[in-house]
Amino acid sequence: MIKENVEKFLGEVPKTNPFGEKITVVAAVKMQTVEAINEAVLAGIEVIGDNHVQEFKEKYEDILGNPKRHFIGHLQTNKVKYLIGKTDLYHSVDRFGLAEELSKRSQKAEITSNILIQINIGNEESKGGFELDEVITAYEHVKNLPNLKVKGLMAMLPFIDDEVELKRLATLMRQAFDELKALDSDIEYLSMGMSGDWKLCVECGSNMIRVGTTLFGARNYN
Ligand SMILES: *Cc1c(COP(=O)(O)O)cnc(C)c1O
Repeated sequence: MIKENVEKFLGEVPKTNPFGEKITVVAAVKMQTVEAINEAVLAGIEVIGDNHVQEFKEKYEDILGNPKRHFIGHLQTNKVKYLIGKTDLYHSVDRFGLAEELSKRSQKAEITSNILIQINIGNEESKGGFELDEVITAYEHVKNLPNLKVKGLMAMLPFIDDEVELKRLATLMRQAFDELKALDSDIEYLSMGMSGDWKLCVECGSNMIRVGTTLFGARNYN
């Protein structure tokens, strides 16, 4: 089932967005078993994204096929140490304290960590991230921290049905991304889009989508 889902999904995702940028698919693997994740990788998934440090640690050694590893969930500062050197991209840098800890731990390990700055595009209380009008300030601050490389922006659109509003928000994210790109040639990724809204996000200029349900089926939270 997962194999079929992955093959079908990878067939549906366009190779590039309307800006001519390659689209990266990140499989959101929270609550999935090692077997399920390995099946997805075998079927063509090249990047997997974790939400929970505990799950990441438990499964880390058992993931086959050498996919790239991203961290996409809310990250507590005191758990950064478990991810350092094992994570190709941190999507969810939503506050300065986290950026500072990632920088400190990366210096210690003598590596550079790639990060995205998370923007709370819907101004939702339940979500982390900088406000849209803080993008440049946040970028300037984080960029100056040693051993970090800012690779772009990440956002989660609100769970609403209003397509016009969703497109407006996604387009605002793309404009902020373009603004950063003009400042810095390392800026490469706009991570935006999940199972329910990835098409709209890609149409508006996202080039990195994070999908779970579409690949693995509905998560069982019991
Ligand atoms: C779970 C999750 C996703 C994927 O959600 P689906 O709706 O299952 O595709 C994407 N991004 C983040 C940050 C997530 O936590």
